Amino acid sequence: MQSIKNRSLISFLCEPSETTLAVENPATGEILGHIATQSRDEIGAVIGRSHEAQKMWQKRSAKERAGILRRWFQLMMENQQDLARLMTLEQGKPLVEAKGEVAYGASFIEWFAEEAKRTYGETIPAPMGDRRLVTIKQPVGVAAAITPWNFPIAMITRKAAPALAAGCSFIAKPANQTPLSAYATAELAYQAGIPRDLLTLVVNQSNSMIGEVFCSQPQIRKLSFTGSTQVGRLLLAQCANDVKRTSMELGGNAPFIVFDDADIDKAVQGAIASKFRNAGQTCVCANRFYVQDGVYDSFVDKFVAVVKQLKIGNGLDHGVVIGPVIEEKAKHGIQALIDRAIQQGATVAYGDTPQPGLFMAPTVLTNVQQDMDIVKQEIFGPVAPIIRFNNDEELIEMANDTIYGLACYFYSRDIGRVWKVAEALEYGMVGINEGIISTEVAPFGGVKQSGLGREGAKQGIDEYLEIKYLCFGGI
Ligand code: NAP
Repeated sequence: MQSIKNRSLISFLCEPSETTLAVENPATGEILGHIATQSRDEIGAVIGRSHEAQKMWQKRSAKERAGILRRWFQLMMENQQDLARLMTLEQGKPLVEAKGEVAYGASFIEWFAEEAKRTYGETIPAPMGDRRLVTIKQPVGVAAAITPWNFPIAMITRKAAPALAAGCSFIAKPANQTPLSAYATAELAYQAGIPRDLLTLVVNQSNSMIGEVFCSQPQIRKLSFTGSTQVGRLLLAQCANDVKRTSMELGGNAPFIVFDDADIDKAVQGAIASKFRNAGQTCVCANRFYVQDGVYDSFVDKFVAVVKQLKIGNGLDHGVVIGPVIEEKAKHGIQALIDRAIQQGATVAYGDTPQPGLFMAPTVLTNVQQDMDIVKQEIFGPVAPIIRFNNDEELIEMANDTIYGLACYFYSRDIGRVWKVAEALEYGMVGINEGIISTEVAPFGGVKQSGLGREGAKQGIDEYLEIKYLCFGGI
């Protein structure tokens, strides 16, 4: 932690005690620091203060809110290096990727600072001459969020920025493995002028306790969750009692498809970026590869040649592309999926070699079949199973054969096929001849059991706004 130059970013660290949470570096196992946790009662009090703060915040003009958010964005970018180091230390991703995430996370703050000024209502032509009909948009109220460890900053700002821009207050529970960069990001928000009670982070050893409080407290009117489908289902059920508004960004099982007519070098480049970013631990990572007969061998050869070059190691070291996975349980789960695939008939084309600690070798599996577990489940690790396919109809059926529908990717240069396939894939996001598609300006989100709602883009702020219809009579 000595390498963090702006010490105000880690001012929240405290001495260890029975009520603190220890944060570990997954690359070294070293304890990075401790943060205070909050009890059920303390979180109840936070919600009460947040409720009061929201009433004041919504009275401020959109222009004023936008100005403060813009300042927060600037501070994030001024502190990009420190935030990135902190993220690599607690999360493991390579420093270059961490810097990219800081910029990506900050981009939502900049974007929603701009969108704050555009939450327009409508005038509606009335069916009677003596009436005038309009709609206005108003903040939902107190918004709560629960976020995962794989994007410790961006998953917070993608929710906090639209909430604050809309005039809501915001309380988030970051993942217990990676709270430090979230707290540092909040610290910069306070320095930018966001009141402490308006944006609060809470943590506790018991994630289910926080989930229960968020879902059962009537002052919280909205819950936005990013994480696994399993936990998403649970939170949705808990929110049903209060009929709370929810946004759910859940798991994925992204197919990455290479057609015979694809530019194979571009497809390999896209496949590497999509599969191995964050050591395969993103919800939009390619989870299974479908390669058409005619280009199967050449794709596999070229792909394996690049995978062999990927350097594994501590994300702070120069040239490292594959950092550690987040925890022992994750490593076991990924290894079990590889072992099971081999048992079921897959061949190791490259990788699957033992690595120390939480590191894992990037692995390519061929002779993979559609009914194998590794194709059905979210791998969340640096493993690429490759399936051979013959025709477009068979391919679409296999690609859609999942409960998930977040991101998918395909490579083809045939414009007719591109349109047909893009329309037939049951996913919220489709990368066409692109392996990395996330941006603050486009709507991020899934269909089926990958979630509800959209983040980013012009749609993102609507998740934190209510539409009110006003009917003026007797005109
Ligand atoms: P997770 O186990 O669902 O955890 C996510 C968050 O939920 C963490 O903060 C966790 O707390 C908390 N949590 C766990 N159980 C809870 C409960 N019973 N009540 C309330 N909160 C609870 O997911 P993960 O393993 O961290 O993240 C990976 C998953 O997230 C993958 O499935 C991935 O696809 C998905 N994801 C989706 C998106 C998207 O935008 N669609 C983006 C990123 C990740 P603790 O940290 O304390 O365990």
